[in-house]
Amino acid sequence: MQTMENELQNALRYDGRVAIVTGAGNGLGRVHALLLGARGAHVVVNDLGGDVHGGGKSSAAADQVVAEIKAAGGSAVANYDSVEDGSRIVQTALDHFGGVDIVINNAGILRDSSFAKMSADDWDLIYRVHVLGAFRVTHAAWPHLRNKGYGRIVMTTSAAGIYGNFGQANYSMAKMGLIGMANTLAIEGAAKNVLVNTIAPLAGSRISETVMPPQMMEALKPEFVAPLAAYLCHESCRENGSLFEVGAGFHAKLRWQRTQGHHFHGQAFGPEQVARHWQEIVDFDDATYPASIGESLMSIVQDVGSPFGQS
Ligand code: NAD
Repeated sequence: MQTMENELQNALRYDGRVAIVTGAGNGLGRVHALLLGARGAHVVVNDLGGDVHGGGKSSAAADQVVAEIKAAGGSAVANYDSVEDGSRIVQTALDHFGGVDIVINNAGILRDSSFAKMSADDWDLIYRVHVLGAFRVTHAAWPHLRNKGYGRIVMTTSAAGIYGNFGQANYSMAKMGLIGMANTLAIEGAAKNVLVNTIAPLAGSRISETVMPPQMMEALKPEFVAPLAAYLCHESCRENGSLFEVGAGFHAKLRWQRTQGHHFHGQAFGPEQVARHWQEIVDFDDATYPASIGESLMSIVQDVGSPFGQS
């Protein structure tokens, strides 16, 4: 009880911070926006107001969320541009609130189809909304965050991107692309206190209702994802370049794992020698966890001298 009271007194606030949440008219983005708005942030509620497959356009979704934030005493403005026009979304933040501190790249759609049946349009549209959209919004915000020496960015990936999923080659490509983008932005932004993390959520929403039974939707409220996204956006959070799975109250960090592997150390080898050492190559006993390109390359270039100072 005492701890709960202490935590309430020390509630994480975002007063004066300006947050852009893309795709905030529904599902996860809506709840991210409501949470940040309730805790003092000025929120740009971006939403194109299209359907789950990327068709149509409406201002209603974003307007509704802005109204909810304002009704709760918060500060918010709607933006109806596609994330593909990311600079306009950032301009909305600059025009209305004089800056930007937080970007949650959340907007998303699905165009599921087996790879055999996938059209070039299905591939391109998913790339444009998820990857190009996150690039355009983040790229427009980037100089403002760097100049201020403060920024928090959250990318939204998916288990389909991390593990693959039948019928989602386009979506998996895009969602894995976001992880790669985040990993490099985390490195480039760190010196300017611009920290970048990625979440892989699981939540009941119009995106997931096609594949989830109703009782599962109820257990997977978007409200169970927003606290992690909000924490990653708080000034007290120093996490950077990390990937989290989150949903239904579960929170966990992921990392790469590598086997000890086998090194031929300059000996001649062909496919036969690779086959002979296969068990070593794929055996995860005594695995290692390279966390940077330097750590990764060290084992590979151990005989030729590492450009990172250790061989
Ligand atoms: P949702 O459909 O409820 O919300 C997505 C919102 O993005 C919609 O309001 C839509 O209008 C908006 N949007 C789509 N294209 C846009 C564009 N070009 N510009 C601006 N807004 C656009 O879906 P959700 O489940 O809340 O998904 C949010 C994010 O989480 C997506 O990136 C999705 O891929 C990801 N995700 C969701 C789940 C899940 O279980 N719900 C799982 C993994 C990843």
